[in-house]
Amino acid sequence: MNKKEYIELAEENLLHVYNRFPVIFDYGKGVHLYDELDQEYLDFASGIGVMAFGYGNEDYEEVLTTQIKRITHTSNLYYHIPMIEAAEKLSKASGMDKVFFTNSGAEAIEGALKTAKKYAYTKNGPGDYEIIAMENSFHGRTVGSLSVTGTEHYREPFYPLMSGVKFATFNDFGSVLANLSDKTCAIIMETVQGEGGLYPADKTFLKKVRQLCDDEGILLILDEIQCGMGRTGSMYAFQQYDVVPDILTTAKALGNGVPVGAFCVTDKVASASLVPGDHGTTYGGNPLCTAAVSQVFNMFEDYKLLDHVNEVSKYLEEILDIFVAKYDFVTERRGMGLMQGLVLTVPVKDVVLKALTEENLVVLSAGKDVLRLLPPLVITEKDVDEFKEKLEKVFDSFI
Ligand SMILES: *Cc1c(COP(=O)(O)O)cnc(C)c1O
Repeated sequence: MNKKEYIELAEENLLHVYNRFPVIFDYGKGVHLYDELDQEYLDFASGIGVMAFGYGNEDYEEVLTTQIKRITHTSNLYYHIPMIEAAEKLSKASGMDKVFFTNSGAEAIEGALKTAKKYAYTKNGPGDYEIIAMENSFHGRTVGSLSVTGTEHYREPFYPLMSGVKFATFNDFGSVLANLSDKTCAIIMETVQGEGGLYPADKTFLKKVRQLCDDEGILLILDEIQCGMGRTGSMYAFQQYDVVPDILTTAKALGNGVPVGAFCVTDKVASASLVPGDHGTTYGGNPLCTAAVSQVFNMFEDYKLLDHVNEVSKYLEEILDIFVAKYDFVTERRGMGLMQGLVLTVPVKDVVLKALTEENLVVLSAGKDVLRLLPPLVITEKDVDEFKEKLEKVFDSFI
């Protein structure tokens, strides 16, 4: 079959909820992807921030292959070693105390919301169910995670959603205070907003929200599904803020390509929230996925990846700042580490399409007007140079 026939067959059988780009990716090597005709693409999207170690990494593949031959699934009725090891490593890396593995980011959010509600219920009985979420946030597509996602057009067709959610303005502490009531049980936000357009939380804002949560006895949920796992230069972004959440969600790069997420809680929360019977999952944290998680943490250490991210991201920032200076339609750079965005006044959708189809450069958009870059964390300065050359050609065609 040729490409056109494959795409027709896809559209015949797949529910049309994505306007997919007309590309079929077949395999990858390092930071490059290859289509069905072996044409090479530079990947600055990493499958939306998932493929931290790029493609075809032998250290990673060997562990997964071994695990597939041993056992891939047991259910959560029994112990297995990959989960035990992965949980210890995740606790250590995040500084949190207890871990629950999920199959996706949205499920990690669901677990976080249930944990916050159960905590309030244990402490105060029923009634404290309100959650303050942020405008412009993204937390997932399930009913619960959609309920706290701050984009009206994602939510609107599905009302009524989970009740008791109030939206505050991100980085506006007064707006958080205005939404606080005696029914509030938790505040949820991304440490760095991803889909909304690469907005990091302000240091003072996050500190004030933390203090408010302590004063009011309510929980702070930080969603680091996109900005966690080394993306911003620390294992979790909150570790650069001198603030610790009560509940942390993580996914995307956690398994480097196997479907896995987690929510993590402090002992304080664990001791007064979910108990046997309250929550569960059939697949969540199965041996294959948690073997991957364990190996991901091993490789962060072996490759000294956080140091690498901090070095190479400085170089990427320099290049991006040159673009801001050079092109009138590039008005701002935002982001942290290898989670970067350029604000454009030309249509970002056109830039992303042109980059892909004419320069074989894979990039993302975010919000209304942001070109989003989430390259594999293992990119080198040479890859950044290749990126610069390609994006320059794309941008030149918009002058
Ligand atoms: C991607 C994302 C989610 C949802 O994760 P899924 O695995 O797609 O369910 C939630 N929160 C943030 C910040 C994300 O970037």
